[in-house]
Amino acid sequence: MLQFRVEKTEVASRARLGTLVLPNGTVHTPCFMPVGTQGSVKTLTPAEVVESGAEIIVCNTYHLYLRPGHKRIQAAGGLPKFIGWNRPVLTDSGGFQVYSLAALTRVTDEGAQFQSHVDGSRHLFTPELVVEIQEALGSDIAMCLDECPPYPVSRPVAEAAVARTSLWAERCSRARKPETNLFGIVQGATYADLRESSARSLVALDLPGYAIGGLCLGEASDVTYDMVGRVTPLLPIDRPRYLMGAGYPEDIIAAVKLGVDMFDCVLPTRNGRTGTAFVSSGRVVIRNSRHSDDLGALDPMCDCYTCRSFTRAYLRHLFVVGEALGPKLLTLHNVRFYQRLMQGMRAAIEQGAFENWSGEFLDRYRSSAQPTGEDSDR
Ligand SMILES: [Zn+2]
Repeated sequence: MLQFRVEKTEVASRARLGTLVLPNGTVHTPCFMPVGTQGSVKTLTPAEVVESGAEIIVCNTYHLYLRPGHKRIQAAGGLPKFIGWNRPVLTDSGGFQVYSLAALTRVTDEGAQFQSHVDGSRHLFTPELVVEIQEALGSDIAMCLDECPPYPVSRPVAEAAVARTSLWAERCSRARKPETNLFGIVQGATYADLRESSARSLVALDLPGYAIGGLCLGEASDVTYDMVGRVTPLLPIDRPRYLMGAGYPEDIIAAVKLGVDMFDCVLPTRNGRTGTAFVSSGRVVIRNSRHSDDLGALDPMCDCYTCRSFTRAYLRHLFVVGEALGPKLLTLHNVRFYQRLMQGMRAAIEQGAFENWSGEFLDRYRSSAQPTGEDSDR
């Protein structure tokens, strides 16, 4: 079972500094988990992910169940070993992908029926099967199967999703082995009372940790923060809290202030591959012609291999001519940028100076970034 210690809670905000001890290693929170959907943080080796400072990654149950199959991974010694990471792994339950990727999804109380996006084969994800798959994978943290309807969500649909998510969480909890670190997922879309009732019913199950799902899907930021701020006070203070899919630095900072400990998002890796870097002064679209003759570092404040070794002009050239090294170097930087962001936050909480730190960070980071549907899958 996991052990979670809150080392310190900020006086001025609700920000917490914590230590999360998992079967495959220790994670310092607040943490950002790079996404390795298919068992690989795209373009990076596990050694490079370790060097970035990341202590845990997120892999996806839906994808790994379809290919190569959870039994094959189990026979290979479990997911951390199979992918050469040998550190903590959190697996998403696959519910989100069933809704967003698979065809012909039919959801009943029994489970979610879907057709694979790979070969059209038919499958049924039940709460019990999803727990069994994640146990076979050897996940350090397993997620309950939840119902996460696409945004925007009408109130009746959100109500039904909350009820089903609670029902499924109870079944997941009954099906799990005692040592499985199962997290419940609070749903309720953008309806405050549904968020609160969802949190209460999951907390009654006394799970090892709690996630907030179904946010950062295109709603306004102040709505996201309002929902998070209503849920965190209802969650037990001694359990880790995970806001799924929050990826913009300003959103992560806001959620940490509301008492969230864990984050994941495809933004640093996906944007790195498509040529957008997160830097101390905001976001850089590297293909932009204004970088053609820029012999400066991508981010002068960054200590990553990319920033120590290459100019913006060269990085732009790699993207313009389509060299594979370009996406790799930008991903390497972005993943490190997010780890530096979290390290900065942890140091600030330790010193009781989170407000000051976040004010300074955000002043420098004059990002025009706005959440979009394309960027916000979890
Ligand atoms: Zn860098």
